[in-house]
Amino acid sequence: MNRFAVFVLLAAVALVPGACGQGQPLTLSSIGAIDAHAHVYTADPQVVRFLEKLNLRMVNICVIDPKDRGFEQAEPQHTAAKALYRATGGRAAWVSTFDAEGWEKPGFANAAIAQLDQTFRDGAIGVKIYKTIGLDIRSKSGQYLMPDNPVFDPIMEAIAARGKTLYAHLAEPAIAWKPLDPSDPDTSYYESNPYWHVFRRPGVPSKDQILAARDRLVARHPRLRVIGCHLGSMEEDIAEIEQRLEKYPNFAVDMAARVVHLSRQDREKVRRVLLKYPDRFLYATDFVLMTWNDAGKSLRNWQAELERDWKFLATAETVEMQGRKVQGLALPGEVLKKIYRENALHWAPGIVNTK
Ligand SMILES: [Zn+2]
Repeated sequence: MNRFAVFVLLAAVALVPGACGQGQPLTLSSIGAIDAHAHVYTADPQVVRFLEKLNLRMVNICVIDPKDRGFEQAEPQHTAAKALYRATGGRAAWVSTFDAEGWEKPGFANAAIAQLDQTFRDGAIGVKIYKTIGLDIRSKSGQYLMPDNPVFDPIMEAIAARGKTLYAHLAEPAIAWKPLDPSDPDTSYYESNPYWHVFRRPGVPSKDQILAARDRLVARHPRLRVIGCHLGSMEEDIAEIEQRLEKYPNFAVDMAARVVHLSRQDREKVRRVLLKYPDRFLYATDFVLMTWNDAGKSLRNWQAELERDWKFLATAETVEMQGRKVQGLALPGEVLKKIYRENALHWAPGIVNTK
């Protein structure tokens, strides 16, 4: 999850101006950018000051990853996310989660809904489901639990009925099913998190099977807004994303930790899809800050990544993306405003809409 360790970029003093035409040049601050997917489980005053200084908002996403320290259960994440939500006056909106591990127990769905309802009363604007579904959790008889299992239907309907959003991180980059390759941008993650490198793991569903089950879930709940995390795990090929955006009007994707994957594809092809669906991409970083991290250093890395990504999306300059030099996409100002702010407000309503 934490891919930040790889970034050793120097933070520029000034934010890079955007490529919009008229008036003031656009910046992250002038847009009032929203990082639509991050993980900050501390209300350290440095975080509050950082968000205010950059005029940045974020969606703080709770997630259960039994293999990742600090993420093992919904708590203490929910409590920490609520504390940051309050400390920032709503600048850090939050998304709750539920434990899918007990899915075979009677009353599972109702218990999950009751728990989620409490988080909605505490301000949560959505619910996260995670790659444990598809890649980890199994039935008593050994079958992998898939995202379209009917056990989730009442939960999905409840989320939709309450006007909340589903954040779905299902499946993984393709390298998870292949031998690790040093030239792949995700290899370092699997070196640090070998549990999620499922190459040659017997019986594990393929990426295509998990994404097909995810697609059936999205299709079965047309009233539910679904944000596919990490480019909907279709980070290798923007044409795959395009196909889903065409097919499922209730589906959008966040860019968390995947701007680099866009930079590795054909520039014109990526640009064409972003311009064709400017309302369906949400900028995000997947920034992680735990209580035991050095907050100052982490925040500098976050700012460096925000600035690097802005340079890539907003300008035609040469940008270094994880060791590769690429030309920025120079997206128009109106598109940048959508990707950096308006789409998050639309797809994840409840983020405080003030400047
Ligand atoms: Zn994440």
